[in-house]
Amino acid sequence: MTVSEPMRINDAHCHFFSGGFFATLAQDPAAPRATDPAVDLPAALGWDAPGEPEQLADRWVAELDRHGVGRAALMASVPGDEASVAAAVARHPSRFAGLFMVNPTAPDAEERARRGFGELGLRCACLFPAMHHFALDDECVTAVFRAAADHGCAVFVHCGVLSVGVRRKLGLPSRFDVRLGDPLAVVPVASAFPGVPVIIPHFGAGFLRETLMAADLAANIHVDTSSSNGWTKYTPGLRLADVFRQALAVLGPERILFGSDSSFFPRGWQRSIHEAQSAILEEIGLDGEGRAAIFADNFDRVFGPAGTAHQFSR
Ligand SMILES: [Zn+2]
Repeated sequence: MTVSEPMRINDAHCHFFSGGFFATLAQDPAAPRATDPAVDLPAALGWDAPGEPEQLADRWVAELDRHGVGRAALMASVPGDEASVAAAVARHPSRFAGLFMVNPTAPDAEERARRGFGELGLRCACLFPAMHHFALDDECVTAVFRAAADHGCAVFVHCGVLSVGVRRKLGLPSRFDVRLGDPLAVVPVASAFPGVPVIIPHFGAGFLRETLMAADLAANIHVDTSSSNGWTKYTPGLRLADVFRQALAVLGPERILFGSDSSFFPRGWQRSIHEAQSAILEEIGLDGEGRAAIFADNFDRVFGPAGTAHQFSR
């Protein structure tokens, strides 16, 4: 990399709030009444309606261009919405890696995971044990990992505190059992599938020590740096710079993925997260190679190189 070349940015953690996402939320009996959930729910939140997945994909690309972001991981953020993200990836294969939430306890989970990784061209299945109430050593989780291994794909496992802002804002109940998101419980399944990159977001969202222990034991465990990392409030005096320093000491820069946790419009891409984290890495004195790994290169390794358009029809 020459000095004049700007730092590449790939964002490993964004949410694709499609029409299908809002339609699923609207099925909750506690949801506000909506004739057209994809319009009425965003309106209730003060957000822009997503339109068709292709339109939302175009808006994302314009937003990434505006901020100089190369690629983004877009997550289908309810089970069953993988076709929306697949449509976005098919439209802009050089810009998006598709991630999809899977509830592994659903009877069709393995079939959905295999279709997501295969036919739909998505790169990572996202598990939320606290939300869907399963243990990480359950056979249903192994089935998702096996599917990921067969397709050379990754698995994201949300650990630690979980609060879903959109649910809270809509007044939807969240009966999460955060005890199920212990990073140490990721170790057996991650070790059984050493070729599957595993991502624990937000440095373990409160379980920093356990996340670092887990990653020390299983070399395929990565962390993402996404969101404001408000969980640091649980440890007296803990600063995000300390978190980065410790993660670098245990994992090295190769297993840390920058993420912003951007989700809705008009807010768009959360530039302030990137600025804050860049400043921290500057303060820590991480070299250019390390910064390039965190902000761009690890993304390409974990999610694969930018794809080319493939045949996909919804
Ligand atoms: Zn997120």
